[in-house]
Amino acid sequence: MNLHEYQGKEILNSFGVEIQRGIVATTPKEAVEAAKKLTETTGTGWHVIKAQVHAGGRGKGGGVKLAKNLQEVETIAGNIIGMDLVTPQTSAEGKRVHQVLVTEDVYYPGDSEPEEYYMSVLLNRSTGRNMIMYSTEGGMDIETVAEETPHLIFTEEVDPAVGLLGFQARRVAFNLGLSGKAFKEMTKFVTALYKAYNESDSSLFEINPVLKTSDDRIIAVDAKVSIDDNALFRHKDYMEMRDKREENPVEVEAQEKGLNYVDLDGNVGCMVNGAGLAMATMDLIKQAGGEPANFLDVGGTANAERVEAAFKLILKDPNVKAILVNIFGGIVRCDRVAQGIIDAYKNMGTINVPIIVRLQGTNADVAKKMIDDSGLDVQSAIEFQEAADKVKAVLA
Ligand code: GDP
Ligand code: MN
Repeated sequence: MNLHEYQGKEILNSFGVEIQRGIVATTPKEAVEAAKKLTETTGTGWHVIKAQVHAGGRGKGGGVKLAKNLQEVETIAGNIIGMDLVTPQTSAEGKRVHQVLVTEDVYYPGDSEPEEYYMSVLLNRSTGRNMIMYSTEGGMDIETVAEETPHLIFTEEVDPAVGLLGFQARRVAFNLGLSGKAFKEMTKFVTALYKAYNESDSSLFEINPVLKTSDDRIIAVDAKVSIDDNALFRHKDYMEMRDKREENPVEVEAQEKGLNYVDLDGNVGCMVNGAGLAMATMDLIKQAGGEPANFLDVGGTANAERVEAAFKLILKDPNVKAILVNIFGGIVRCDRVAQGIIDAYKNMGTINVPIIVRLQGTNADVAKKMIDDSGLDVQSAIEFQEAADKVKAVLA
């Protein structure tokens, strides 16, 4: 589950990470009130208005703007709220902005120049450890830094059983070229950030930029946070942070129906039971010259109701040119699944794309005969290759 910047900052703050303070607003009036309040509590003169959408690169898309007085706060908030923000990480249509975060300005002038760093904590799957990735090159695309100046990216691997050790936190501060107060502040920052990542069961905490202010404070200016869905049951308060408006509506619907659905770009819809078979089926579709339109695991109980729900989800995608149903009848018998498909098909009236059904396992032959005798526009197959050939034929 991805979070908004303001929610990520709330979590950071609860673990003692210093953040750029802000207040969420959904109207220009609220933004002005928020700005006044921030001036009272933080003493800030200027404010930053930041679009809250699940996408990075907002600054580049015009979704992060500096306001130098309350009039500007109102105007800028008015412009950003309701806009479809296009960033390098959104589609061409962009993402609708429902709310902004009004923040204090932390780039104030002082004894030294403010400096921006990059820092993230994530799981390194190849080593089975957590990893802190950081760089002196903050504020810009980390992908660009990785491509052009990879030597400016450092990593610190953390054994999850031991946790982040003091010398590791100091090494981070050292590699970032810090000394004195900023060095101490950075070790505190990294330590608290790692704790936040670990104890919130997150899979990603990305802070870009981490700011060294002109008076040597270390502050999280941005926060991109992903919480592991499988651990959400342990965090009821985080669960409430889910913003369904930011998620793919078809995926949200699938989730509500208990189906495991991921939207993809291709033209062949697939309905499969079991994640492994679903992956193999996607490979099969590719080999047949198609591209999977989705990943869909209907789970163990492929009854008429679930099959119909799954068909409906797949057909919401206008790119779907064919549907491949690939079900292994191990626990659920193939004839039961075949009946489910026939019932669902009849319930739905006409389906305008060719359907290829491959049923394998218990009573596969009975199931194939049921499909063939149903009089519906559904092609059956028992072997994997047979199914692939039929997909190929309908795409040709
Ligand atoms: P992103 O573009 O979605 O990554 O949004 P960020 O939260 O990282 O903000 C984008 C940029 O806005 C930052 O890299 C900063 O350069 C700038 N910015 C953020 N906060 C402040 C601030 O308090 N004062 C000033 N002057 N600039 C800021
Ligand atoms: Mn950022």
